[in-house]
Amino acid sequence: MKRRTFCKSAVAAAVAATLPACSMKVAEPIAAVSATGEELSLEAAAVKELGESLGGRLLLSENEGYEAARKIWNGMIDRRPAMIAVCTSAADVQNAVTFASERGLLVSVKGGGHSFPGKSVCEGGLMIDLSSMYSVEVDAENKTAVAGGGALLGHLDAATHAHNLATTTGVVSHTGVGGFSLGGGLGRVDRKFGLAIDNLISVDLVTADGQLRQVSAEENPDLFWAIRGGGGNYGVATAFRYQLHDFDPQIYGGEIFYPFEQAKDVLLYFAQFTESLPDEANVELTAGPSPEGGRFFGIQVVYAGDHAKGEKVFAPLRAFGKPLSDNIGPMAYHTMQTAGDGIMRHGLLNYLKSGYLNEVTPAAIDAIVENYEGEHAPFFWTQHLGGQVARVAPDATAFQHRSVHSNFGINAIWSDESESESRIAALRKFYAAVEPHMAGFYTNLNEDSEEKTWGNYGANYPRLAKIKGQHDPNNLFRLNANIKPEAA
Ligand SMILES: Cc1cc2nc3c(=O)[nH]c(=O)nc-3n(C[C@H](O)[C@H](O)[C@H](O)COP(=O)(O)OP(=O)(O)OC[C@H]3O[C@@H](n4cnc5c(N)ncnc54)[C@H](O)[C@@H]3O)c2cc1C
Repeated sequence: MKRRTFCKSAVAAAVAATLPACSMKVAEPIAAVSATGEELSLEAAAVKELGESLGGRLLLSENEGYEAARKIWNGMIDRRPAMIAVCTSAADVQNAVTFASERGLLVSVKGGGHSFPGKSVCEGGLMIDLSSMYSVEVDAENKTAVAGGGALLGHLDAATHAHNLATTTGVVSHTGVGGFSLGGGLGRVDRKFGLAIDNLISVDLVTADGQLRQVSAEENPDLFWAIRGGGGNYGVATAFRYQLHDFDPQIYGGEIFYPFEQAKDVLLYFAQFTESLPDEANVELTAGPSPEGGRFFGIQVVYAGDHAKGEKVFAPLRAFGKPLSDNIGPMAYHTMQTAGDGIMRHGLLNYLKSGYLNEVTPAAIDAIVENYEGEHAPFFWTQHLGGQVARVAPDATAFQHRSVHSNFGINAIWSDESESESRIAALRKFYAAVEPHMAGFYTNLNEDSEEKTWGNYGANYPRLAKIKGQHDPNNLFRLNANIKPEAA
């Protein structure tokens, strides 16, 4: 039995509604920027031809829909592409890529628009906007799902959970499957099912030469290795095919909150408690400035399996310390997967640094607790790895950080621009204190120097650079955690 489930996002629906079936007017050449920063003048006739070739729409700055389409999630980012190709099919993407490639035009690719440093929108180039390609098709019998390159994690969760199936998705439902699944894909069930990249069966990829390629273990295996962790470096993914797993969308989980004064003791216990847990158990920290002033501190748990077993596993944790509250029990996974959507909503100002904790050592705990202070203290949180994630060899995919305890994220969120300097400074101060206890970082999150990004791929980097050289020698896809093409 093959069932289709289509999900709509408000943004995609709004953009799709503006798609006209009429010819395009382009009177003047369009001023644009090349991939290497030189000024370009794009011939009006060629721009018109590109616009008319799209099943979607080419938006110029004067067109209705341009302002909405250029916006991405992080309100810090305000860039104006020369053109936005709103694509509705792989053929649209091929036309847009070919146009840019032939002219050396700067390109950015927007999936869900959740890049913290705003890599999905470019100044003066061509933005390839996939947000109208959001369908998700579930094959319940074969336990697979195919998501469009612009689908959101909430679309994938909704479509798969309806069949009591799941694959790993992240913690905020309006994140895009595109960037998420190419960079690694951490989530609350990764210890049980592996990272998102570990569940990829195949990807439809438009490479820099405009070709649409099937990328899997059998076809283009080098590319398949590279795109699982190598981000958007190798092309535009128009469809992702995932392995699904049996999953009860009613999980056993919830949150325990403590007074911040107990943070050190709770963290020491957390380090010990998380040493040997079943794959079903996911245990994460969450902390931030509380609305009443002061700081909140808590632990969030999920047991993705039998509830009675989950109750037993989490019982010692629940008995520890003197919590302020504890709501752990059976709950809809959807509730947890959407609980952060509001606080992480579109348009707020965001800044983030992160790194991996290989171990939660007493020294790391001291650094966290002693330096988490101040009026503009950021949020911090962890994402639990191990389990299935650690059973994959570091060189089996481009994602080498397999033996990590947790990903440690520090995130400032604010709305008043006048606070930007002090918010970012407070975050950097806290990060500087914790960074010595971190080893490497999740490339999907940090805005770090190219050298740091390359080093972060470790022994996998030379192979990544070689494959980049074969498939994108001119570095068309450069607005990402960029891998420099090695000359053939
Ligand atoms: C609120 C929030 C919560 C998050 N939670 C998690 C989490 O739980 N787990 C986790 O692993 N990560 C998480 N992330 C990080 C997230 O994985 C990255 O920000 C990721 O890049 C988002 O993908 P996107 O498609 O929304 O991003 P975009 O901004 O659209 O793109 C980011 C990068 O990916 C490339 N890209 C996007 N789609 C495609 C595509 N279809 N083909 C080729 N390249 C593409 C872009 O070119 C760009 O370089 C979170 C981020 C945010 C902002």
